[in-house]
Amino acid sequence: MNYNIAVVAGDGIGPDVTDEAIRAMNKIGEKFGHTFNFTHVLAGGAAIDATGECLPDETLETCKASDAVLLGAVGGPKWDPQPAENRPERALLGLRKGLGLYANLRPAMIFEELADASPLKSEIVGSGLDIMICRELTGGIYFGKRGTDETENGKGAYDVEYYSEMEIKRIAKVAFELAMKRNKRVTSVDKSNVLESSRLWRKTVAEVAEDYPEVDLDNFYVDNASMQLIRDPKHFDVLLTTNMFGDILSDEASQITGSIGMLPSASLGDGSFGMYEPVHGSAPDIAGTGKANPIATILSAAMMLRYSFGLKEEADAIENAVKEFLKQGYRTADLCHGAPEAVSTTEAGELIASFI
Ligand code: NAD
Repeated sequence: MNYNIAVVAGDGIGPDVTDEAIRAMNKIGEKFGHTFNFTHVLAGGAAIDATGECLPDETLETCKASDAVLLGAVGGPKWDPQPAENRPERALLGLRKGLGLYANLRPAMIFEELADASPLKSEIVGSGLDIMICRELTGGIYFGKRGTDETENGKGAYDVEYYSEMEIKRIAKVAFELAMKRNKRVTSVDKSNVLESSRLWRKTVAEVAEDYPEVDLDNFYVDNASMQLIRDPKHFDVLLTTNMFGDILSDEASQITGSIGMLPSASLGDGSFGMYEPVHGSAPDIAGTGKANPIATILSAAMMLRYSFGLKEEADAIENAVKEFLKQGYRTADLCHGAPEAVSTTEAGELIASFI
């Protein structure tokens, strides 16, 4: 088969890690007889430098015309002086909204070979961990009304958390469908003891749950959920939550797994189209040093094969190659505290491709 993929390499370590994901996909193409056509487009700081805009129209159009998008990361201190509406990170919000990607899936997994990289004790994480965080991505406070005003106490500022039933229903459905293919438990996270939007969230999720009698639903307040992720992470199978709570909890979950350099993500809408990217940012502190771990992006490519193209065997082949890399004892700098035997970004990518 032929697949067209838009590549937004972005800034900092983005180009380094996307190159290695492309290498892995090309190897899959050779082995399984597929052709992946990659079209590079600009977004974030790189786009600001080239065009003045963080998300040029042409980028959005190319992404829309593709079968899927592979994204590295955007941002960095160079673009801090940009006005809020043209900061590199705004490009991400524009891509998610413009491409209708309302569901963000972030698996937080501990590979057996890296069990001791988790900061949690082995009696808590045991032989591994496998949580799927399902975060709403195009609603809530990040997209709500915002503004500033003058008050008798000086300047004020506000951001509004708003959800409609439609938005809650469609993300809840994604979470329950995922749970049906996993361990059949959804934990919905809100703050319904305080927030009106959370009360609607909890009620609507309960209504969707009625269509999935085999799935256990429980509800946690977000403060409790953040504690339980540390105290009893094995409680979670699919964690369903809002845009902002998901942003925070998924970073917490990523740390439980040891390194943010290992974690992929998928952003999906209706249909098979999706955008795939590592959970981490552009890591300006290590850009250009060869210390970036490309595994999160390589695993994001595996998610693309699985969720957008329905290529299960090919996705398994990438994931098994990553396991083999770890099993043979190879480590990037983040996984071995920078020990001299660490392999570089390119070496890691070449080794993983060789195990496919
Ligand atoms: P970050 O994820 O870029 O880095 C946090 C820490 O993790 C750093 O010490 C970094 O060196 C390390 N790290 C990250 N990815 C790594 C990898 N693959 N291998 C090894 N180490 C890795 O987060 P930050 O420092 O808060 O943000 C840096 C920039 O990235 C900011 O401009 C931020 O806005 C942006 N950002 C972008 C995205 C995105 O594009 N999706 C996400 C988060 C942050």
